[in-house]
Amino acid sequence: MGKVLFFSGAGLSADSGLGVFRGGNGLWDKYDVNKVCSYASWMENYGLVHEFYNLRRSEYEKALPNPMHAAIGRLQQKYGPEKVIVITQNIDDLLERAGCCEVLHVHGRVGYVFCVSCGLEIKINGEFKGGVCEKCGGRVFKPSVVFFGEQAPSYVPMYEAVSSLTDKDMIAVIGTEGSVVPIGRIIGSRRGGVPAKRLLCNLEKSPYINDKDFDFVFYTEAKNAAGRVEAEAENILGGGL
Ligand SMILES: [Zn+2]
Repeated sequence: MGKVLFFSGAGLSADSGLGVFRGGNGLWDKYDVNKVCSYASWMENYGLVHEFYNLRRSEYEKALPNPMHAAIGRLQQKYGPEKVIVITQNIDDLLERAGCCEVLHVHGRVGYVFCVSCGLEIKINGEFKGGVCEKCGGRVFKPSVVFFGEQAPSYVPMYEAVSSLTDKDMIAVIGTEGSVVPIGRIIGSRRGGVPAKRLLCNLEKSPYINDKDFDFVFYTEAKNAAGRVEAEAENILGGGL
């Protein structure tokens, strides 16, 4: 019996109506991305940044998990987070709402802010209205979302998890073109790369991922492949006599 590592991106939550990063989305058109998502200048635009994330949070809270979230949630509940490792670039909590108990969000979580003085993280339901940090008295809070130009400390455990996979395991890449986190390059070719089986489920071919390096390839919406992906994961997790 092996482990399965799910690595997902915007394409997973797109089927829940989320994840349209730029263009065609009213919210992104109304705000200047360079003002509301830039680590260098976010404090100069403090009110605007929180206004933007309050709106995004309310949009995200209305979304519902789709069948692929549900499949991943079921697998992690059944086999536990040691066997079913869930890593996502998405900042929504749809995987948790689908039953996942442990998700590594490498780009942060929209449902949290943290105190910039001491790092204390606070869960926000709905609107962030400001306040005083109960730990240090600080009054400046940043959304717990990795901005452009900001370090992403979760990349370290992500690399560790991927490189720990053996030939008994499987990595399932779902809904990401592999440009921000170069997952195709991280897992490498079948010869010399990560020895695990590889599964790819994307809407379409990506120039950043060589699908010849994958054992299973599904070019379709994530929600449509949920059953087949779950079955391949079960083969790894429950199979192997
Ligand atoms: Zn604090």
